[in-house]
Formats: sequence, structure tokens, C-alpha cells
Amino acid sequence: MPSQSKIYLDHAATTPLDGGVFNLMAPYFSGVFGNPSSQHFCGREAANAVTSARDKMAVALGISPAELYFTGGGTEADNLGIKGIAQANAGRGRHIVVSAIEHPAVIESALDARAYGVEVTFVNPDENGVITPSAVADAMRADTSLVAVMSANNETGVIQPIEEIYNIVKGRGAYLWCDCVQSAGMLPMSRFPADGFALSAHKFYGPKGAGAACIKKGVRFLRQMSGGHQERGLRGGTINTPAIVGMAEALSLSLKRAEEDSVRIAALRDLFESEVVNQIDGVTVNGGGAERLPSHSNLSFEGCEGQNIVFLLDLNGVATSTGAACSSGATTPSHVLTAMGLGEARVKSAVRFTFGRNNTAEEVERAVGILKKVISAIRG
Ligand code: PLP
Repeated sequence: MPSQSKIYLDHAATTPLDGGVFNLMAPYFSGVFGNPSSQHFCGREAANAVTSARDKMAVALGISPAELYFTGGGTEADNLGIKGIAQANAGRGRHIVVSAIEHPAVIESALDARAYGVEVTFVNPDENGVITPSAVADAMRADTSLVAVMSANNETGVIQPIEEIYNIVKGRGAYLWCDCVQSAGMLPMSRFPADGFALSAHKFYGPKGAGAACIKKGVRFLRQMSGGHQERGLRGGTINTPAIVGMAEALSLSLKRAEEDSVRIAALRDLFESEVVNQIDGVTVNGGGAERLPSHSNLSFEGCEGQNIVFLLDLNGVATSTGAACSSGATTPSHVLTAMGLGEARVKSAVRFTFGRNNTAEEVERAVGILKKVISAIRG
């Protein structure tokens, strides 16, 4: 963690590993080190831990343990879901619909799925960053096999109307894939009915490099990782025992404390936003007109470059980002804000602040003060 005086406001990029989760994982690095696929006592010991973690996670998600496929993170889960479903169903459906505000893991997987002969249609959000059910319905065709809309956007935090979209998609006989990477552990999964969804442990205070594709029974999909027989032959590769043990614990812990955390984090985010809007001129809240995750605040600062703001905040000990961590550093403007139809100046001047469990009101007040100085230095 950054030292006391530093302020971490980039929880959408990653969260710190929970201390209790780390302790639970520790024995599985060296003590219980067996390969869960091995046919001896060492393997059985590790396999038992994975089975318990799978059961614990399935209970937290309200699904059957057989519907969980452990992966090396959210990106791999999205690849397995999108490409796996598109490939398996290419014979009956040659079209997939994808929201234009998805994470690159979904967008690139959909574009790669064209190799299986499917066409891709992208759906733009409204000006608040919401993918409307009617826009999804309009984009669907008789041969649409798969629709992908995320639970909540990683840049704006805008929560998508998944229940209504699911009803439309099911009414037309297609599958719905929902990337739940940003909302998992914060909002109950029951809000996001889908045929399959992606999770990533490091977004809910679990370890990095661990995730899951949750794919409902009866959904046809093909493996995207050629190799061993692990995960019922659908995801080859030695099972990462400590990461899975940690992910299951982190998810159930996060969901247990979600209600309380959400109220506290939303209060910090709201305090931050109102102080910034009151104290700094020319600030707009991107996605502010829609329901958002409690953690996210995406702000544009008139006359400034988002990259410069992030750079100067970093120099002053405040960690933020201009958008997705995997694309920050790239000079291309946010595809999410662009798809929302915000003008170029507003897109380029955007900064994402994301709050978490360990932030305090004192940090919020301090961050506002630093931000105010940074903005006036840039404008000055
Ligand atoms: N999907 C969304 C919405 C994300 O925000 C991210 C990561 O930022 C991913 C997928 C990729 O997850 P991972 O970092 O575990 O590969």
C-alpha cells in the first residue's frame, strides 16, 4: 500500500489484497503445494482446498459449482465466454451484439470471433453511458446468437439495465454475456441475470491473476485454451490453488460487507464530487445522470488534459487514472466517453477517481485540496 500520506483513488484498476485473505492463501504456496490434478495425497490435499473454494464461491454467486470455470483473470474469462460461445454456436447464429463501452477484453474477443464467421454489431450508449434495452433490441437480428453487455462500466461506473436486456435477449433465443468484473463483490449478482459472466479477484480485494468464467448449464461453448483436462476439459492449465482459495474468500467477504461498504464508499465519493464541483469551475460529471457504482467518479475539467492532471496528481501523491489502467499511457481518447457522444475536449479532459474500503473523509478533503491546486496550475 502507498505510505500514509499518499492517497489511492484508483480502485477500479485494482484493490489491495485483504490481509485475512492473504493469510488464508499463505499455506497453499509451499505447505500444501501439490498439483490438484495429481493422484496422490499431496494432490488430494490441494484438490480438496479447490473444491471447498469452488463450493464457497458458488454459494456466494448463487450458481452451481459445476458452472464455475477458474481462469487467470477477467480478461481470460471474457475471452472464454465470448469466443467460446460464439464459436460453439456459429452454425446457428452468425451475428453477435456487443455494447460499445465494453472493456477491451470483450471488444477484442468479439472482433477475434469474426474468425468463426460471425459478424459483430456494436451498440452505443445514451449520453449518460447507459446501454438502453431498446438499442439492444434494435441491433439484434434473427441470427444473433450472443449479446454482451457489462454490469457496470469500468470508466464511469454506470450500472447497466441488465435485467431488461436479459429478458429481451432470452425472448429472441440468444445468450447474454455479462462482464461483472467491476460490480462483483459490490452489488449482488442477482441484479445481473445472464447466461455467463466474468469475474476478476483483484477487483474485490483478492489476488491478481485469478478470475472465473461462470457459464450456466446448457450453454454451449468451446474451450479457448488447448491443453490438459482441467476444469472439465474446458480450461487447460495447472490449477492455481492459492489464488482460487483467496478469490473465493475475498468474494464472500466482499459480498458480506457490501451493503455497509457501499454506503460508506458512496458517501466519500459524493463528498468528493460535491466539493470538487463547488470549489473548482468548469467541472462536469460524466455518467452523473445515471445510476452508478458507489466507487466511481469520472470528471472532466474544462481547459485541461486528463493526462496532465493524472501526472501532476501522481507527483503530489494521489493515484488516479484517465480511464482503464490497461489503456492508460495510450494517447487514444476513451472509447467509452467517445461512444457517449461527449465532445473531444470533454473526453480528453476526463479523469477517473475510484474510491475503496480503506479511503477516509480526511483523504477526500486532502485530495480535493491537491486537485484544486493542480487544476489552477494547469489553467494558470
Ligand atoms: N473487464 C472489466 C470491466 C475490467 O475493468 C477489467 C480490468 O480492468 C477486465 C475485464 C480485465 O480483468 P483482468 O485485469 O483480471 O484481466
